[in-house]
Amino acid sequence: MSTQLVNPIKNGTIRKSDKWGEGAFGAARGSRKHNGLDISATNGQDILSPINGKVTRKSFPYANDLSYTGIVIKGTGVHATISIKIFYMTPLASVIGSDVIAGEKTGIAQDLTRKYPGMTNHIHLEVKKNNSLVDPKSMLPGII
Ligand SMILES: [Zn+2]
Repeated sequence: MSTQLVNPIKNGTIRKSDKWGEGAFGAARGSRKHNGLDISATNGQDILSPINGKVTRKSFPYANDLSYTGIVIKGTGVHATISIKIFYMTPLASVIGSDVIAGEKTGIAQDLTRKYPGMTNHIHLEVKKNNSLVDPKSMLPGII
């Protein structure tokens, strides 16, 4: 069986089209393509770890706006081939540098609509398997 992820948002669904784009992997982002999957989230909602791993660091999706943050998780055990980035969430201070298990709370969702009015609020989930980007949807059975 191929490796599966825990949905970082309980019962979370893929961000559908809004005035800024849509959440699917490979969707247009100007001249580039979206390299992750956006999962709709309410500001303040719990963000769960998709895998067993170690939160190696806090990340900053925008060099010019450090109010937006995220985490990088390096998989361990059954998830050792996987690494994950989650953006637009405030990590719990206790998880940075710590081991987490799939389904464990790692932080809370942020408010992206402050930067992008009219956007569906969401977290960005980026997954690499053996150092290659994959469509996270393929590892989240049942997500719509
Ligand atoms: Zn995204």
